[in-house]
Order: sequence, then structure tokens, then C-alpha cells
Amino acid sequence: MKYILVMLAIFFCVNSGLTQYNSSSDRSRDFTVELKNTPTTSYFNSEKIQLSFDVSASFSTIAVFVNAPFSGQLEYQLEGQTWRPLSRYHEDNHPTREIFELLFLPNQTTSVQFRSDRALPSGLSIRQLMLTKTDQPQNATASKREDCVCPQPDICGRSCWCPTGNCPTDPTPVATAPSHIIVHHSASASTSNDFPAVVRSYWDFHVNVNGWDDIGYNWLIDGAGVIYEGRGSGTQGAHFSCMNTETTGICMIGNFENSTPTPTAITALENLIAWEACDKMIVPADSSNHITSGALLANISGHRDGNNLPASCTSTVCPGVNLYPLLQGIRQNVTDKACLNDLVATRDIEHTPFRIFPNPGNGQFQIAGDIHQIAALHIFSQTGQIIPFNLNLLIGSTSTGGILHLPNPGLFILKIIRKNGSVTTHKLLNGPAN
Ligand SMILES: [Zn+2]
Repeated sequence: MKYILVMLAIFFCVNSGLTQYNSSSDRSRDFTVELKNTPTTSYFNSEKIQLSFDVSASFSTIAVFVNAPFSGQLEYQLEGQTWRPLSRYHEDNHPTREIFELLFLPNQTTSVQFRSDRALPSGLSIRQLMLTKTDQPQNATASKREDCVCPQPDICGRSCWCPTGNCPTDPTPVATAPSHIIVHHSASASTSNDFPAVVRSYWDFHVNVNGWDDIGYNWLIDGAGVIYEGRGSGTQGAHFSCMNTETTGICMIGNFENSTPTPTAITALENLIAWEACDKMIVPADSSNHITSGALLANISGHRDGNNLPASCTSTVCPGVNLYPLLQGIRQNVTDKACLNDLVATRDIEHTPFRIFPNPGNGQFQIAGDIHQIAALHIFSQTGQIIPFNLNLLIGSTSTGGILHLPNPGLFILKIIRKNGSVTTHKLLNGPAN
């Protein structure tokens, strides 16, 4: 027998019952499977853990973690099924715990059992979440923003995927100016009877298990091409192996190690990238210096492109063997969009240490980059006339920059003279001030 059976006492603690928020909310249950006599055991094999289910729910999730370093393998078995490996969660890098991939269970799953090839250093912590069927409100898509000529795709906002309002945003969001778009997969099933509930399950996993401030991704896309707003545009997420600054993270829902993204989902990804690239002045087919990692990265990268960088804290196959090779075609398709071609022609596409956005602007532009390198700034009209402006400096702990206020609409040339003598020019297209 491969695994030695060890009789274990099971204690349910923390919250042994289901937590009911209100009649339409998802319900959670946290408990720990404790071990006894671990010094004498080489292997861990749990008893069957009985699960609650609600016939009206869409499905359940199980989050499993060990609150200590643990290098062993973990397997699980649902009632009446074979043992399957449970891989580690690819977005987590916590040094003193091991979190495993979120398990999505059919609604009427009655029990689950776990085993490992090593003794566990502590109890196996488990969080079950029962996802209530999503009752999406009318007109729940995110409001339109007119900050770019590339059209904003339809977006399922937070009140759309979490209509009960029980999935709050980060109370102290950190703004970032993305230079790079990072594509992920969720490593979970590509199909679901309730994708908004899948997004909620990731919100719960990231906040209540990982301990993050919000869902890690800026955006998620399901197999039908529906785009969900996570942290949204211009907010730093938690997705790129401890190198999140200056990135936006898009998660394609599905496991693209063993399935292939749908053409509809890829089209939605391209539309979202075009809109973000247009808004943030990201040239889709280009590569540029990613300031946080110090690496030259393709502006549209897969999560695995961060592997082996000195600043990286994890290694991953994300976004999967069947999605990663599609990125080159995606970069090209986005580049070929007419809306973006027009904008690129009016924008600076040089490799400079500074990025100016949004461009076109509405009376103000943000300068991202090390403002300490700047010796002087000048703004000229197209006829060479010097234009007055105001600059408010932004000095943060991890990045610096400034807000440039420009009163008059029109096309201008911004000349940045650095202390090392180099000069870069940027075209600024200024709309009427708000
Ligand atoms: Zn990833």
C-alpha cells in the first residue's frame, strides 16, 4: 500500500458552522483538520471530511493551505472519484505557508479526503465557500470612460459580479501607471454555470485566504468573452511574482495547460488590451524597461516571462502552454487595430525613462519615471512658441513622477532635459481641460 493509513483525530475549529451573511450571499466555513502523533508518522491521510452543500447554490470552492513551510505533495479525492494531485497556487509567494490551487466542486459534493507523501508540519486549514447563484442586476456593466479613441469594451463591474456588495475594494488602493500588461490564466476550470460566482470565489480566495487587500487581478475574462473588472485600470494588483508596480494583470479564466482559450475570449482580451494600451500609452508590439524588475520585457507579457528575474518571488507556467504561444499573434492583432495606429502616430514611442499619460490629456498629464533625473522641462507649441505650464511633483517610496498642468488645448511638444544631458521629446495632445 503506497500510503500508510494513520488514524487521525479531526477537530473543526475557527468557524465550525456556515457563516450566513444574508439570504442571497455566499456562505463560508473555515476549519482545520488537525493531526495527532505526527512525530511518528511519515505520511498524512485524512479521514473523509463531510461537506455542506445547498441545492440552490451554483457550486462550492475549497481553499486548502498549511500554515508552515511544506514541500510535500498533496492529493485529494472527492466522494466516489480517483485521487488527484493538488498543485500549489501559482500567484502566492508567502514564505511561511503553502497555499494550494482553489478547488471548484460540483454543488452536491458530499465529502473530500486529502493525503500527502510527507507528514504535515501543522494542521490542514480549509475554507469552504458555497457560491449562491448570481442574480445580476440590470445595467450592471461598468460606466463608459471617454479617455481614448479605442472603444471601451463592455465590462461587468463589481456590482455586476458581486451584486450583494459583499466584495469590497481595497480601502487603500495604490495607483500605478502600467508600462506592461501581464496575461494570466486562473488554472481553474474553463467552463462554469456561473462565471460571476467564479470571480467572487477568487475575490474570497485572495482576500480571506491569501490575505490580500482585494482580488489580485485588474481584469478577468471568461470563456464567453465577458470582461470582469477586478482592481480595474491604473490600480496596482497582486499577480506578477512580487513585481506588480507598473503592470496591469489580466486573468483568462481557465486552465490553459490542458485546454485552449476560446476565440471569443481571445477577441475580448485583444479589445481590452487595445483600450488599456491606448489609455496608458503602451505600444503593444514593443518591449520596454520594466522599472520594478529592471528587465526588458515585452509590453504584453505572460506571467511566466517574469520567471528567473532577480526580483521574482515565484516561478510559474502561467498562462499555460496553450495560451502563452498565442501572445505574439495577440500583440500583432492589437497593433493592427486602426484606433491604436492613429494614436501611436501622435505619441512618443522612443525608449525613454519617462512615460507621459493619459495622452491625449484633458488639461493634465502624468509623468511617470524618476523625476530626480530631470534638469529642465520645456513645452513648445507647433510653431516653436514657449508655453507656460505647472508641474506638481509626486515623490513616493517606490516611484516618483509629476502631474503636468497644461491650460490650452492643442498639440504641443514636451522636451525633457535630463541631468546627464540627454534630451527626449514627447508629443502631447491636449483636449479641453475638465
Ligand atoms: Zn499568473
